[in-house]
Amino acid sequence: MSSGPGSSTSGAGARIAERARRVVPGGVNSGQRSVPGLTDLVITGTGGARFRTADGREFIDFHAAFGPPLLGHNDPDVARAVAEAGTSLGHMGVGVTEGEVLLAEQLVELIPSVEKILLTSTGSEATFHALRVARAATGRRLVVKFQGCYHGWHDSVSLNVISTPERVGGRDPISTGILPEVLEATLVLPFNDSEAVRAAFAAHGQDIAAVILEPVPHNVGALLPHQEFLTTLREETTRAGSVLVFDEVITGFRHHTGGWQTISGVTPDLTTFGKAMANGAPVGALGGRADLMDLFSSRPGGPTFFAGTYNGHPSVVAAALATLRKLREEPVHEHVFRLGERVRTELTALYQRLDVPAVVAGYGSVFVTYFMPGYAPGQLPGSYTDLLANDAALFVGYRRRLLEHGLFELPLNLKRSHISYAHTDDDVDRLLTATETAVRSALA
Ligand code: PLP
Repeated sequence: MSSGPGSSTSGAGARIAERARRVVPGGVNSGQRSVPGLTDLVITGTGGARFRTADGREFIDFHAAFGPPLLGHNDPDVARAVAEAGTSLGHMGVGVTEGEVLLAEQLVELIPSVEKILLTSTGSEATFHALRVARAATGRRLVVKFQGCYHGWHDSVSLNVISTPERVGGRDPISTGILPEVLEATLVLPFNDSEAVRAAFAAHGQDIAAVILEPVPHNVGALLPHQEFLTTLREETTRAGSVLVFDEVITGFRHHTGGWQTISGVTPDLTTFGKAMANGAPVGALGGRADLMDLFSSRPGGPTFFAGTYNGHPSVVAAALATLRKLREEPVHEHVFRLGERVRTELTALYQRLDVPAVVAGYGSVFVTYFMPGYAPGQLPGSYTDLLANDAALFVGYRRRLLEHGLFELPLNLKRSHISYAHTDDDVDRLLTATETAVRSALA
């Protein structure tokens, strides 16, 4: 792990962060990077499961950049592939490279819904194009999303992610500047509620272009989907001729190289990817049924327009190919699933011992603890409304105290944590010990 200049100077973080606030709105380049209580966080080095700050502090990283570095930061195989591409193949923005073809061929082979696939630079672009082509294919207006799911920053989906209780059930935009008619064209339903889905289709089925969901809404931690809910979505969209979109930007590659659709056996029409697909290089992808995907290219530039200067950038493609190779050839999933199971089991035992009402949720490499009473062992929250009972002060409070022990879980309500291939049992031991101390302190 290398550090930047001045990395061990006490107060260096505050000085750089202050310079940032003068020239960068809010001092950071993305929403939620500025965390209350952590305004002077300046990152100078990353490596494996760790990162270092300008103040010379080192943390074991369980935040993992909201999910991309499944192999760990600066994975040497991925870094080598990117460096090689960087010295031999610049981005031309015309034609195609063999790397793009190889990557598409592998994704078509791995992911059940994907007959054809296009690359973007971000997950938001992928979900944007998924909804655009769904509207183009169906000639319809409405999109259905679910409370608690996040699909990026564009207008049709910029509503009802983390809502205050009184805003659940209404339209709750996450941004100003969105046309009301765009927000009105998105219906928001409760996750895991098949009745609500059937009612929406009964009332509006012929006007619904697409249903989009995170098959596991990880943007509010980890709500696991009921199998019957996914099946209902598949049946209702098929019956109404609407497009079913799985947003697998988080679940894709992290939980299975074939995505949640492989785990659940429910195949959507379109799927979006990002994050773990290239272990941290800026990537997104949209794949699915050939008849839908071909709308992007049955004549040059259309009829549904798709473009992007950096789509298929050779360095990003190299990162994705190296990531996929490692996921297929090394016991990555076995390792992160084993550590994830350990964390969930031992945290559950810890909270029982401390007599703290808590639900430790997650899947595979993802874990999150909700602090709420009334859950029997093995019972899980199913919808965003259930999560309103979470004790946000304790959720954020213990994570702030974890920082004092050199452990980093994002101190923001409902945020999930991630385990990578670079984490060890020793890292997990340190997490468990520090969590006990941090929770006791937050409760005191
Ligand atoms: N979809 C999901 C499920 C996400 O979690 C995110 C980002 O967090 C996105 C889409 C948007 O991806 P990006 O931030 O790469 O635009």
